[in-house]
Amino acid sequence: MTEIERHSASQSELILSVFDTLEQHYGYFDWWQRNDPYEIVLGAILVQNTNWKNAEKALINLGEQCNPRSVAAMDLDELAQKIRSSGYYNQKAIKLKAVTEWFSKYRYDISEVREQDKDQLRKELLEVKGIGGETADAILVYAIGKPSFVIDAYARRIFTRNGLDVPKSYEKFRALMESVIPLDTKRYGYYHGLLVEHGQQFCHPKPKCQDCPLNDSCLEAKTQTQTKI
Ligand code: SF4
Repeated sequence: MTEIERHSASQSELILSVFDTLEQHYGYFDWWQRNDPYEIVLGAILVQNTNWKNAEKALINLGEQCNPRSVAAMDLDELAQKIRSSGYYNQKAIKLKAVTEWFSKYRYDISEVREQDKDQLRKELLEVKGIGGETADAILVYAIGKPSFVIDAYARRIFTRNGLDVPKSYEKFRALMESVIPLDTKRYGYYHGLLVEHGQQFCHPKPKCQDCPLNDSCLEAKTQTQTKI
């Protein structure tokens, strides 16, 4: 085995062992509980730069108009007012219109979307105004049902602190995760949920390492203990 292969083997083991520990600690849960794929698409945009509570309020406020035909027909200002709770509502209203227009190419039929190739869909989503890698991957996994690993700030923070050589670029980090974790939509959805849960419960900017299930192996926890000594 070459030095590079040894290095990447240990990085893969690190990734798998972090998920293994998190799975044992949190058990299985259904991360994205809303079932309607279009609502999930809107939710993935509404949650940008805010928390889920504010995004969900916006979805609730849309009520019966939370469907692609109503959103397409709605006046832009009216849409912005309805989603006010999610913040950046004027920009987000434009994004919701744009993603709805993309959906119209498939006659608002999610089964038609699901027939398409993942890479093609990802390319299309990234061309929609206001959709970047994280939002595109969340839509692919949770709304469309294609295995695309969602990278976010929690993933970056947790893996960096655990000693992974985290690539700076979104695409490289996603490719690394997808090369280590077998392509599986349900698993990808669950693993992203595990990282968010862990980031919210323990791995804050100021981490709670003492009670964290990863503290036996985490580099950051070791550094903190040494600093205290
Ligand atoms: S031990 Fe501390 S730094 Fe490491 S993952 Fe847990 S909370 Fe984060």
